[in-house]
Amino acid sequence: MPDYIHLLPDAIANQIAAGEVIQRPASAVKELLENAIDAGSTEIQLIISDAGKALIQVVDNGCGMSETDARMSFERHATSKIKTAEDLFNIRSMGFRGEALASIAAISHVELKTRKHEDPLGTRIVIEGSEVIAQEACQCNPGTSIAIKNLFYNTPARRNFLKSKTVETRHILDEFQRIALAHPNISFRVLNNNIETYHLLPGNMRKRIVGVFGSNYNERLVPVEESTSVINITGFIGKPDFAKKTRGEQYFFVNNRYIKSPYLNHAIVNAFEDLIPSSAYPLYVLMLDIDPARIDINVHPTKQEIKFEDERIIYAYLRSAVKRALGHHSLTPTLDFEREPGITDFLKSRKPSDSGYAGQASPGGPFQATQTAKPTQKETQAWQELYAISRNKDKQTITLQSNWDKPEPGLAIEMENTQVVPYQLHKRLIISPIKSGMIIIDQQAAHERVLYERFMAAFGDKPIASQQQLFPKKLELNTADFELLKDLHTEINRMGFDIQAFGGNDFVVHGIPVDITEMNIQEVIEGILEQFKQHNESMADTPRNNLARALASQACIKTGQGLSAKEMIALMDELFACQEFYKAPNGRQTFISISLDELRSQFDKKE
Ligand code: ADP
Ligand code: MG
Repeated sequence: MPDYIHLLPDAIANQIAAGEVIQRPASAVKELLENAIDAGSTEIQLIISDAGKALIQVVDNGCGMSETDARMSFERHATSKIKTAEDLFNIRSMGFRGEALASIAAISHVELKTRKHEDPLGTRIVIEGSEVIAQEACQCNPGTSIAIKNLFYNTPARRNFLKSKTVETRHILDEFQRIALAHPNISFRVLNNNIETYHLLPGNMRKRIVGVFGSNYNERLVPVEESTSVINITGFIGKPDFAKKTRGEQYFFVNNRYIKSPYLNHAIVNAFEDLIPSSAYPLYVLMLDIDPARIDINVHPTKQEIKFEDERIIYAYLRSAVKRALGHHSLTPTLDFEREPGITDFLKSRKPSDSGYAGQASPGGPFQATQTAKPTQKETQAWQELYAISRNKDKQTITLQSNWDKPEPGLAIEMENTQVVPYQLHKRLIISPIKSGMIIIDQQAAHERVLYERFMAAFGDKPIASQQQLFPKKLELNTADFELLKDLHTEINRMGFDIQAFGGNDFVVHGIPVDITEMNIQEVIEGILEQFKQHNESMADTPRNNLARALASQACIKTGQGLSAKEMIALMDELFACQEFYKAPNGRQTFISISLDELRSQFDKKE
């Protein structure tokens, strides 16, 4: 009997492999985008038409390929990403199997143009069904462009299996979103049937999430950060109130690779516990960074599932990171107005201040959204104390609820017709009596908070007026700062500045925000740029956030500045109208409160 086993011709082998790797147009999109990322690109363009059936093209500015590499790239098992078996345990690239281009070329018409940055000319290769039709030198931009036409032209079964254009386009955009979220520092553009559907500029994670999902997502995000010896977790979860009725907007990335993991998903759902109904799905975009040796990516052909060395530890870290983030988030004043009528009264009774710090609109603003989470006991207490101040002011009385000499609580000494006068201590602290004792406010931290929220509001619907300067001030900046200010000055101007480019490396300041009295504008602007650079690099914050924070810290009342009683009262008013009055934007506490009981116990101490 003759031997009858033979090797399959490459074209057929590739076509079979394609069945696994390229299931639909979206799979080809994924492979091309990942190749562009592996090539170190900073700008990537995705062009599709007719849901990818007519054209899928990816243009990148990555390393490009030499003529030989360009040809090699279409061979099966041709990859530049691993060389030895050990490399398999240290994979940081997206691809490594060397199958994608060979598979795609087996089932479509491909045109590749590629040029290494250092080469004067590039290479153009045209392949149809694994067969090279043309190969020649060509003029092209550095980087790589791969265009796939007529996908599945020779595999009718696969072609007929495709869903409607809407569905296939959705799949493509889903893949795109995952990749764009995983690489916030890469700029992406998508043209779908000649219409630009995305143009994402490089930035931090928050900016990318907002770019992908829409600007109203900014306020929905709660940052998550956990770093341990095994794993680093960063990213965002959605506030519980915004959990959706349908799944989606749930992303895990392990070493920048999108993965599906019902097990890890459970860790998150578990952390949200009672905060959302079981029928709701919270948003999350979480990046897990882990030593590649601790994971096995090679489980699933399209690499969406991976194995962890110890999944249970990761589960535990993830759950605790999310819980902690939620805990921090719920620290913001979330008051149940139903239960605390006093607080509503307090808010209603407040008017915009008429003092030197005026400008913050009436307090209803930040609290208008109905918040139902329970306030912590401490928060409620703080508000009750403040409520006492406000009521006393209205009645022009001061109520010292003293039990210095009488042990029974509730015995008050009333001083009619006396305004509560705060006291400034060492030009840094403001001391004021409250019903239960006293509060001590750090003037700098407090004013920083007030300005920060005012500046943030300026980006919304509360613009800050600018007071024109009698003598416009020229700013002299180095080129880097000039460029940065050029990018930022429109935003800065929204906060009440009037800064215009002047020529050379100079800007001129025509106006500064009202209510900011003294400042060395050159120093302030340089300070803003400095802080902006620092924060923008180190923190998952939006640029606006950074800007408001930087400006607040530069322009606020500093320790060492004397304040009149009127100014102190205004500052206190403004502080407690803030959304997060208890801390400065940098996290420092703005005030402490000491109860009479605490004070008394100090006196009661015996030798
Ligand atoms: P893999 O990505 O698994 O290595 P592919 O078939 O996707 O396999 O690609 C084969 C090889 O072609 C890659 O290893 C890489 O060297 C090269 N390549 C593919 N796309 C690009 C690109 N956009 N820029 C530079 N090189 C590329
Ligand atoms: Mg690849």
